[in-house]
Amino acid sequence: MVKIVRAAVLVFALVMAAGPARGSELFDQLKREYLDKAGVELVAGTEKFPFVTEHDRIDGVNANPGDIDLFLYMFRKEFGKYPPELLRLSGLKRIVFCSDLLHGGGRRSGVAVSDNATVYLNVRSGVFSERFRRKLMHHEFFHIIDFASFGLDEDTEWEALNAPGIAYSPATATAAGHGPSSDVTHPAAGFLTRYSMADAREDKAELFSNLMFNDLQARDLVKRDNVLAAKVALLKARLLKFCPQLDDGFWARAIQF
Ligand SMILES: [Zn+2]
Repeated sequence: MVKIVRAAVLVFALVMAAGPARGSELFDQLKREYLDKAGVELVAGTEKFPFVTEHDRIDGVNANPGDIDLFLYMFRKEFGKYPPELLRLSGLKRIVFCSDLLHGGGRRSGVAVSDNATVYLNVRSGVFSERFRRKLMHHEFFHIIDFASFGLDEDTEWEALNAPGIAYSPATATAAGHGPSSDVTHPAAGFLTRYSMADAREDKAELFSNLMFNDLQARDLVKRDNVLAAKVALLKARLLKFCPQLDDGFWARAIQF
């Protein structure tokens, strides 16, 4: 009798050890879902690195199944906020869940590449906070929307919203300072994060990701900062034009998650 119980415990232990296989069921399910509803291919474990173009080089390694699954739980909720129509209109083709991501030799948590319409996301656990990782998905996806809706030109209309004397500077935005550059610290009028001061493209992506994540501190700042309020209005007007489903109802739902 005792032996039978031990055997049962052993079998149970083996089933538990097979955890990652169950996780890949989640991946398979989401992969089917996104292909069907939006024509977007999810990639994990099979990507060939590096991806090299004339002006880009992306390096990375395939992530372990446990890290991928953990990330997918967050991804399912965050990307679930988007109507499939937006994903289709953006032209996004692939999302690669990987680890040790490098762009042009520099470490990255995520990269959006227009050449292959791909978003690369670093899913390694224990490196970034959950809040950061949830915002990251929206930030990188916004770059794809921006490429599709606005192109690669300078955004003078956006830059004109900034207070006089404000100049974007990648060096200042990414310099080591107090906490991660993506924290909502309101470093200057019109900016939620230090990283948003890098250039107009990052500024838009930072604002969008905080709206989609529904960062409460960011919401409060938008109420008190006229430049931020004007940026939110322009961003939402452009998005509505790009995809009619991003109307007031969409934003009302986004803050209910
Ligand atoms: Zn960015």
